Amino acid sequence: MVVGDVSTGTDVAVVGGGPGGYVAAIRAAQLGLDATLVEMDAYGGTCLNYGCIPSKAMITATDVAHDAATAEEMGIYADPDVDFGEMVAWKDGVVDQLTGGVEKLCKANGVNLVEGRAEFAGGDKLRVVHSGEGQGSETIEYEHCVVATGSRPVEVPGFAFDDDPVLDSRQALALDDLPDSIVVVGAGYIGMEISTVLAKLGVDVTVVEMLDEALAGYPDDLTQPVKQRAEELGIDFEFGLAADSWEESDDGIVVAAEDEDREASKTPQADGEASTANSRSSRPRRCSWRSAASPSRTP
Ligand SMILES: Cc1cc2nc3c(=O)[nH]c(=O)nc-3n(C[C@H](O)[C@H](O)[C@H](O)COP(=O)(O)OP(=O)(O)OC[C@H]3O[C@@H](n4cnc5c(N)ncnc54)[C@H](O)[C@@H]3O)c2cc1C
Repeated sequence: MVVGDVSTGTDVAVVGGGPGGYVAAIRAAQLGLDATLVEMDAYGGTCLNYGCIPSKAMITATDVAHDAATAEEMGIYADPDVDFGEMVAWKDGVVDQLTGGVEKLCKANGVNLVEGRAEFAGGDKLRVVHSGEGQGSETIEYEHCVVATGSRPVEVPGFAFDDDPVLDSRQALALDDLPDSIVVVGAGYIGMEISTVLAKLGVDVTVVEMLDEALAGYPDDLTQPVKQRAEELGIDFEFGLAADSWEESDDGIVVAAEDEDREASKTPQADGEASTANSRSSRPRRCSWRSAASPSRTP
């Protein structure tokens, strides 16, 4: 059915159905207000669909395989045969279950759900273009509006997400098959999660980080076990480098990484999927990505 130019009114309009938005909408409804939640992609937002939940599901699954494969000292000799496609499908099932739960929870609490992209159309109105071709639009007049539109991955200059070998965190958690090697730009918690998942599955991982340490800004007693674990898994770290550019070579993808402080010239030979580093030193450190083909990915 094509819906065109419908006009509705609500006490509280919430834009964005992530953990910020759907909780606000439910609470407003529980307090007796008419609440309308507008989501343009998927209920649960980044956290449930592309972030916390898929990453933790993959960490859990890869832990099972890795623990079994490394338990000789307990007298367990196993060589798990991991079907990566099935693992990703299992992760997708977990995500579907939880996002479906969010939708049901909203409905059970009386929240009106509107699927589409919201834009402000004056001081007290939202214009929502409904998802899907030919689905029309509607105007929602509100008393109060909560903007909970979250965030999205930011491109590093020189690494457009549209370029085939360059993956953002969403794509890295939705690969169809495993690369031989990968370079992860950034040793924040997202980079560290993706790195450890892939390293446990046997991918050769190099992490390039422009600061001097991984998980900068978090307390040492929390970060030390993570760093130690990463090193035990064989993850190589290249600190003090910022992603700059990548190019194809006979050996695969080569990524230029340059010293942040424009000082020492180091030349690591990291094998990775794409290695990066940001700065304008005249002495680039170059890391190479050996895989001949890009891993296929779900768009
Ligand atoms: C790999 C990864 C792992 C993470 N792990 C953790 C973790 O373990 N713990 C943790 O606390 N956090 C984690 N995070 C961060 C967490 O995902 C975010 O902090 C959280 O999702 C923010 O919630 P939000 O509701 O503000 O925004 P989002 O979850 O981003 O939701 C915003 C929603 O708004 C919608 N939207 C945007 N614009 C419009 C519009 N104009 N109209 C309609 N809808 C719109 C979007 O489609 C989206 O669904 C992780 C993130 C990633 C990427």
